[in-house]
Amino acid sequence: MKITDIRATTVTVPLEAPLRHANGCHWGRFVRTIVEVEADNGLIGLGEMGGGGESSEAVFRGMRPYLLGHDPARLEQLRFRIANPTASLYNNRTQVLAALEFACLDLMGQAWGVPVSEILGGRLRDRVPFASYCFCRYPNPNTGQGEVRTIDQWVAFVRDMKQRCGFTTHKVKAGVFHPDYELEIYRAIAAQFPQDRVRFDPNAVWSTEQAIRFGRAIEDLNNDYLEDPVFGLNGMRLARQRLRIPLATNTVVVNFEQLAANILQPAVDVVLLDTTFWGGIRPCVKAASICESFQLGVAIHSSGELGIQLATMLHLAAVIPNLTFAADAHYHHLTDDILEGGPMHYEQGALAVPTGPGLGVRLDREKLRKYAELYRELGDYPYDQDPLRPGWAALVPNDRWADPHDDRIPDLRRR
Ligand SMILES: [Mg+2]
Repeated sequence: MKITDIRATTVTVPLEAPLRHANGCHWGRFVRTIVEVEADNGLIGLGEMGGGGESSEAVFRGMRPYLLGHDPARLEQLRFRIANPTASLYNNRTQVLAALEFACLDLMGQAWGVPVSEILGGRLRDRVPFASYCFCRYPNPNTGQGEVRTIDQWVAFVRDMKQRCGFTTHKVKAGVFHPDYELEIYRAIAAQFPQDRVRFDPNAVWSTEQAIRFGRAIEDLNNDYLEDPVFGLNGMRLARQRLRIPLATNTVVVNFEQLAANILQPAVDVVLLDTTFWGGIRPCVKAASICESFQLGVAIHSSGELGIQLATMLHLAAVIPNLTFAADAHYHHLTDDILEGGPMHYEQGALAVPTGPGLGVRLDREKLRKYAELYRELGDYPYDQDPLRPGWAALVPNDRWADPHDDRIPDLRRR
């Protein structure tokens, strides 16, 4: 098999409501770049990249000369061709490599008639449990609906997610309001659903002292872990020395150098693997194997996915033995997807691992056209800006929180 062409299409898929986070906001939509890698046998492999609110089409156009004539099965060769660690100081292409790896694995699976999970060692599970990933949300400006801000709204959202999708693990995405207010939110959810598990993630914007204060105040709850309470391996190590609950990260262990550092001098207990941040599904499988050797916990991170990336997360989750936590996904905040057959459906809080050849998902061309058109209409958005706090940026550690009494509705047409 040889690669004969590569195409990239930027799409925008609307969210139910804008998702607020410690550094800004997803402005009512996701912007994702859909990658199609074509081979000389007529097969098309799918990849996906995005998350920062911007198109990556130009980057993939620039990859054409690197890819034409390349055998998609030669993935290690591809890694050194486009993301050689010593040549990547000027143009880090880890996330680009990830999207291309997805597409190459998809091509291989289709050509060989097997799901990607079979190429990666074979499924250990057919269904993958997910957490209800709960964000603070602005109201949808078109409907006025979907706000998550007050404690009652948070609890109602979790209840709705349980009813709609069957989740029994709940992740509170925080770092938006003062930690004392977010502690009230977290404890209210834990009290309302005492049989369920909970996890909390303020996106590394706290001081070490705040992380310790908060961690001690939630010790009695049914915590999976406290995720990235403070920035940096050293901050996490200091917090971990003073806390009795596991610490997790998707921020300070995102490559093998950092994983090695964390093993030599432990700073986190649970590593959230992200198929994009780590440069593909295969590096995540390798990292999970190292975590198995050193008995570190493993979970799966979500960087804001449509169905192609979600499929990569499902194939990863299917093949790693030491996945003991529910996976994260933003997916249930989306209103639609670009997949043939429509969005994947949660049943009892879990998604089925695709069993078709390759990634097991195909593009709905009509949806691709529709959401590419929506992207052309709405353009990029600044992921690291809050539409109602123009010019604001979180400090690390942060001390400038959003006001939980502010009930304004943002104008998302502003760029
Ligand atoms: Mg996180």
